[in-house]
Amino acid sequence: METIIRELINDAGKSGADLSMVKRRVAKKYKAPCPTNISLLRTYHKLVENKTLQASPLVKNLLITRPVRSLSGIVNISVLTKPYPCPGKCIYCPSQKGSPKSYLNNEPAVMRAILNKYDPYDQVKMRLRALEMTGHPTDKIELRIIGGTWSFYPKNYQTWFVKRCFDACNARGRSDISKAQKCNETARHRIVGLSIETRPDFITEKEIQRLRELGATMAELGVQSIYDDALKLIKRGHGRNETIRATKLLKDAGFKVCYQMMPNLPGANTLRDKKMFRELFSNGDFQPDMLKIYPCALLKEAPLYRWWKNKKYKPYTKHQLIALVKAIKKSVPPYVRIQRITRDIPSQSIIAGPAKLSNLRQMITGHCKCIRCREVKGDYNAKEKLFLFRRDYQASGGKEIFLTFENKNQSKLYSLLRLRVCVENGSRPFAMIREVHTFGQSLEVRPLKARLPAEGRTSPASPQHKGLGKKLLQEAEKISLLSGVNKIEIISGVGVRGYYRKLGYKLEKTYMTKFLSA
Ligand code: SF4
Ligand SMILES: [Zn+2]
Repeated sequence: METIIRELINDAGKSGADLSMVKRRVAKKYKAPCPTNISLLRTYHKLVENKTLQASPLVKNLLITRPVRSLSGIVNISVLTKPYPCPGKCIYCPSQKGSPKSYLNNEPAVMRAILNKYDPYDQVKMRLRALEMTGHPTDKIELRIIGGTWSFYPKNYQTWFVKRCFDACNARGRSDISKAQKCNETARHRIVGLSIETRPDFITEKEIQRLRELGATMAELGVQSIYDDALKLIKRGHGRNETIRATKLLKDAGFKVCYQMMPNLPGANTLRDKKMFRELFSNGDFQPDMLKIYPCALLKEAPLYRWWKNKKYKPYTKHQLIALVKAIKKSVPPYVRIQRITRDIPSQSIIAGPAKLSNLRQMITGHCKCIRCREVKGDYNAKEKLFLFRRDYQASGGKEIFLTFENKNQSKLYSLLRLRVCVENGSRPFAMIREVHTFGQSLEVRPLKARLPAEGRTSPASPQHKGLGKKLLQEAEKISLLSGVNKIEIISGVGVRGYYRKLGYKLEKTYMTKFLSA
C-alpha cells in the first residue's frame, strides 16, 4: 500500500482514473488484490504521523470515499427523534409503528436510528465513525434533527436530545446543555450549524428563543404549498399567512429558512405548481434561503392512498415532473440553495407516480444557478482570480444583502455571506448576519499541535481557511455602518463562536455581537 501512495505522490496523481491505474499496476506486480481507499487512507495517515512521508493533501483527497460528503465545507449528520405523535393530519403523510410520523422504517436514516434505539448520542457517534473511516474531516458538523414536528416534542425531551448530540461531539457528558455547548466551542467535532424540522404555525417568538437556547441556526419549515385552498384540501392545518409570519420571525432572529415544498399535491397541476415556485421568489413575503422539493409520494401508509384508489388523486407522469422540476430550477435565484429533490424513501414503498425516481436530481442537468449547483466543490484553483459580488433583495420587511466570492463568470461559488438589515418599519434597526460559509473540501480546524497530520489547516486543494469569510465579514460591517446601524449580530453555530471571538465579537445572549465604529 505504501508503494501505491508513494507512486501517487511522486507522479502527482490527480484524478480517480490515476488512482485506479496505479492500484491495478501495483496489485498486478505484487500479485495482490487491489486495496480499498479506506485502507490506503489509513496507511497514508500512519506514514504521515511517523514522519516517513510528506503530507500530500491532493493524494489524501483522492482517497476519500464519496468526496461529495465533505465538499461543501462541512459534513452533514442527521439524527432522528423517537416515534411520537404529530398534531397534523396531512393526507399524504404516512404513519408507521416504530418510526416518527412521516417517516418509514426502511428509510436509511430511520434504519440507523432504530439500530441505535433512537439514542441521539449513539446515532451521532455512529455517523462520526463512518465519516472518519471513509476519510472525511469531521471538525465542522451541520447537525440536522429530523423526525415528526420538532416543536411538538416535550421540552425536556428536546433539551435532553440536543445535549446528547453535543455530548457525542464533545466525547464527554456534561451536566447541562449550556456546559455541553461551552465545551463544544473547542471540541474536536464542532457543531457549526443546527437545524430542526417544524410547522410554520408552531413558530412563535417564544419558540424562537427556545430554539436559540438549544443552539439552532436553521429551520426547515413544512410549507408544502402557499395556496390556502390546497392547504385546506390536504388537511394541513395552517394557511399561507402562518408561513409568511414564521418566515419573518425566523429571519429577523437570524435563522436560515428552508422551505419543504410539495409539488403534485391533490388539486394541483403543473402550471399552478410552476406559478407557485415563481411566487416564492417574486413575492418578498417568502424568499426562502433554501428549498427541498419533495414531489408528493403516494404511500400505502397514508390516507392519500385511498384517494388514489377512488380515482380522486392522480400523480404526474415522469415527463410532467421532469419538465416541472426543470422549470423550477430555471426560476431559482442565485442566493437560494436547492438542498434536495425527492425524499430518501425507497422506491419499493412508493405505490405509483414519478416520486419513485430517486435519481431525479441527476436526470435534470443544467439550467440552474442555485448555490448548490455553483459551489466550487473539488474544482478549486488557487490561481483563479476571485471577485466580490453583491446582490440585494427585499424579504419579509427587511433588506437581504447577499455577498459572495465567485469567479468572473459566476459559475464557481467560493464563499457567501447573508446580511439582513432592517432600518425601517421595525421596532429597532438591526444588522444580522444569518450565514457565513466557505465551500470546497472541508478542512480540520483544530490547533496544529493537537493532532497529526497537520496539513489540514490549509490545503492547496481547498479555499477554506484562506480568509474569504473574514473579508466578507469586513464588507458586511462596512455595509451595516453605511446603513446607519452601528452594531452587528451573528446567529453563529455554537462551534463557530471561537472564530468570531478572534475577530472582535462577543457572546451576548445567544448571538455573537460587535459594536462598529467608522
Ligand atoms: S405536520 Fe408533518 S409530520 Fe405532522 S402529519 Fe403533517 S406532514 Fe406529517
Ligand atoms: Zn441548482
